[in-house]
Amino acid sequence: MPKSRDPPRYDFHAHTYLTDGRVSATDMWTSSRALGHRALAITDHIGIEDPTPLLRHLLQEAEAWVGTDLTTIVGVEITKAPPGRIAEVARRARKLGAEIVIVHGETVAEVVPEGTNHAAIASGEVDLLAHPGLLSEKDAELAARNGVILEVTGRKAHCYTNGHVARLALEAGATVVVDSDAHAPDELLTRAVAERVARGAGLRTADVLKAIESAPQSLLKKLGKL
Ligand SMILES: [Zn+2]
Ligand SMILES: [Zn+2]
Repeated sequence: MPKSRDPPRYDFHAHTYLTDGRVSATDMWTSSRALGHRALAITDHIGIEDPTPLLRHLLQEAEAWVGTDLTTIVGVEITKAPPGRIAEVARRARKLGAEIVIVHGETVAEVVPEGTNHAAIASGEVDLLAHPGLLSEKDAELAARNGVILEVTGRKAHCYTNGHVARLALEAGATVVVDSDAHAPDELLTRAVAERVARGAGLRTADVLKAIESAPQSLLKKLGKL
């Protein structure tokens, strides 16, 4: 078990068997704590359907962690919803208890509705754009203005464009974090691996630290979790 003085790890993107992950939220939180995480968000996939059962289930599991040294975050990853409906889907999820709303961005690894990146960033309702793929400069600038965090990912294939995302985010002044998008405990990133992913995306030391420590702490504050 990592000691509390070990450098912290924060992750805002992971899945459970309630969508396409392999284990429960409880399993993911238990494993993340053992790896030294201070916070892990469960962000299962939703579309335009009613997320009430999913969120109710996750929020009930999260209750067991109140008062522990792990900050659990219950959220959603809006996935392949029509771009024009992302804002409405995000608002509804939040009303139903989602503590973080992220959007499944236009990864180059699969087909995602065109315009998803822009709709997420422009919505004013989304905290973080996951694996934005070949993000445009304009959308990177809008993300900086709107305070939408851009994700560098440890996820296979979605990671192909990490270097592009990191470069545009830096140039635009947008915030970057490093998430796992883990679908099972063995896909969670330790602090050391997260650092390597950030460096591999082309970030230099100060920006690596920002991406894996100060930006996550600011996001936790914004979410009311710190
Ligand atoms: Zn995704
Ligand atoms: Zn995901």
